[in-house]
Amino acid sequence: MLEVLVRAPQSLEVRQGTIPQPGAGEVVVHVSRAGICGSDIHILHGSNPFAVYPRIIGHEFAGTVTALGRNVTGIATGDRVVVDPVVSCGHCYPCRVGRSNVCANLEVMGVHRDGGFRAFVAVPAANVISVPRDMPFGLAALAEPFSIAANVLDRTGCGPEDTVLIYGAGTVGVTVLQVAKLKGARCIVADIDEARLERALRFGADRVIHSVRDPVPAAVRAENDGLGPTLVIDGAGIPALLDEACRLASPAGRIGLLGFSDAPSNLSQQEVVRKELTIVGSRLNRRLLPRVVEWLADKRLDPQGMITQVFAAADARAAFDLIEKEPERTLKVQLDFS
Ligand SMILES: [Zn+2]
Ligand SMILES: [Zn+2]
Repeated sequence: MLEVLVRAPQSLEVRQGTIPQPGAGEVVVHVSRAGICGSDIHILHGSNPFAVYPRIIGHEFAGTVTALGRNVTGIATGDRVVVDPVVSCGHCYPCRVGRSNVCANLEVMGVHRDGGFRAFVAVPAANVISVPRDMPFGLAALAEPFSIAANVLDRTGCGPEDTVLIYGAGTVGVTVLQVAKLKGARCIVADIDEARLERALRFGADRVIHSVRDPVPAAVRAENDGLGPTLVIDGAGIPALLDEACRLASPAGRIGLLGFSDAPSNLSQQEVVRKELTIVGSRLNRRLLPRVVEWLADKRLDPQGMITQVFAAADARAAFDLIEKEPERTLKVQLDFS
């Protein structure tokens, strides 16, 4: 059984592991597809503050249930599933108020505990979500990245009244774009790269802005009857954008942050108060994979085109090299463990 391990920062290893047995309340999933995320690259480079080494990485994975532990109900061997990598304690304050994604005892598969880059993985039964039999595993494995987008738009609210400005046309920006379109919003995507902007148009952007040639604040001034975007999502994770976002947002606007930089951001108190802006952080997802799976199943989301390359698990090193050396050729690279 193949598994992909980061032994220590900069040290990626594809090795043979042993098939796990399910503990009580767990199921074993035979992983078919697993997506590589920017945070996997950060763990490889030692720049993820939460990772503990050695670590089997991977938190976007789908496959088939092959074994059930004791006390597992509602799921059967042979079920096709996607796994929610967020494991929470269920009794701390955030868990009690429905915010299990910021649990005080949070464990994310592939970060705090071993993840899904292996042919067989034991996971809590509570974290598996059944997918329709005819849903390709590659598509099912996209449910986790889309749950990130669903979570931030759940936190900010998003609907047909909204004019959404999305900073960044990378994987995060493109998933936020598709979920915001599904919710009926007008979507504007800003990026510094022409090819990425063209890609955003293909995924449904109503308008794109090349933010080097065309500074964003002036470019969006006329939007929403001259009030500016009602919703701004930072899919680029750049601290300096927060001040700009506050200045260009509409009164009663909302700003959603997804970046994880520790650098401080400047912020005008006057802008926030004068316009009653709402600024929210969004981390991982709070049990939103079932909703995303529904969107995928009824084709309200149709992101198959996001999968740019699939590598055999044995070639994981080459997959990581491609993402790092030619990022412009990749949007979502997946590994095949089947
Ligand atoms: Zn991720
Ligand atoms: Zn908790």
